[in-house]
Amino acid sequence: MSKKELHPETIVLHAGWRADPTTGAVAPPIYQTTSYQFKSTEHAANLFALKELGNIYTRIGNPTTDILEQRLTALEGGAAALAVSSGQAASAYAIQTIAKAGDNVVSSTDLYGGTWNLFANTLRDQGIEVRFVDPTDPQAFARATDSRTRAYYAETLPNPKLAVFPIAEVAAIGRPLGIPLIIDNTAAPILARPFDHGAAIVVYSTTKFIGGHGTSIGGVIIDGGNFDWEAHPERQPALNAPDPSYHGAVWVQAVKPIGPVAYIIRARTVLLRDLGAALSPFNAFQILQGLETLPLRIARHSENALAVAKHLSTRREVTRVIHPSQQTGVARERAEKYLKGGLGGLLGFELAGGADAGRRFIDALQLFYHVANIGDARSLAIHPASTTHSQLTAEEQLATGVSAGYVRLSIGLEHISDILADIDQALDAAGA
Ligand code: PLP
Repeated sequence: MSKKELHPETIVLHAGWRADPTTGAVAPPIYQTTSYQFKSTEHAANLFALKELGNIYTRIGNPTTDILEQRLTALEGGAAALAVSSGQAASAYAIQTIAKAGDNVVSSTDLYGGTWNLFANTLRDQGIEVRFVDPTDPQAFARATDSRTRAYYAETLPNPKLAVFPIAEVAAIGRPLGIPLIIDNTAAPILARPFDHGAAIVVYSTTKFIGGHGTSIGGVIIDGGNFDWEAHPERQPALNAPDPSYHGAVWVQAVKPIGPVAYIIRARTVLLRDLGAALSPFNAFQILQGLETLPLRIARHSENALAVAKHLSTRREVTRVIHPSQQTGVARERAEKYLKGGLGGLLGFELAGGADAGRRFIDALQLFYHVANIGDARSLAIHPASTTHSQLTAEEQLATGVSAGYVRLSIGLEHISDILADIDQALDAAGA
């Protein structure tokens, strides 16, 4: 049976691994090794010269991690993937693979706070300018573009605004210019399929819904294999000009025998090699365990979050519920176009009593955990303005959708009656 015919529920259990050829073990083994015995000096030289593909050193690749990479590639409908040690590393490498000092990237303003910081400060300090634009107007990406623009960047279902990004519209602006759209699909795995809408690269924090268990930090970059990096060589010099950091390799030429994977091969052989944010084999195993149940979990997260959104909208203390089900107009149309099979597990709300009521609500929760995370099997709550987004200025917070009274919930897999009961008692206790 060809992989194309398989459904997500099957891919997460089968892609990339069948059984250990020596022992018959069905569960993917944890190859907890740093290095790999070369067969000969010729074999070693061929591996380093990329004449042969194989294991060299776990910073650059590992067989357990490879299973995760293959499985996520199949699930996403891409060509190849690179797993890394966190979602942050995935976002950073996704850009650094093709942009260097003097280049720029155009990004949606609607970002996770950590990504905002990476873009507004750390990448800027490295000479890569990130130009933030309002994603409700796709043409803003075109207006911010110049000859040094190397990529567009956005989140599918941006946490915390939860207004779905116009993937197809912005991808279509970039393609004729040779500019790939990089999409962070962390909040909508399975539900959204960015490659089907023209995105070139997908990144995830696998720490969240993909792992689901809240035990392991990880990230992944998936190359759609659907972008013509050669069409505009002056636009993408990192892949089209000789790379001094790899014997002058011209990546689009060097990888031709392997496939349309120049971008992800450079991410591995240059960025991961040099900066070293490798995923540990144990975490790769843990993330594989979580991934096996992702289709079931994301459906239940979505079902429970929808019920919470409906319930909150009936409570008089709640002035606003932020969830795709509550949106109208273009935002609603985008949610319907891009999210299939559920609206995700995240939602936000504002209380009439503002920031103080929000803090009282969180302190009163008993079932929900008060943590800086999303996508765990357990229900989670946080007050972004004083935590995840606290390093942003007040204007930056508002640009990313964080008002002072905003409370973010990541709805878990508990019974919906227990979730609603905890919310109700906390709202009562907050006296908002
Ligand atoms: N992208 C999104 C949308 C996130 O929510 C997060 C973390 O919250 C990240 C990236 C960063 O991921 P990590 O914490 O695994 O580095």
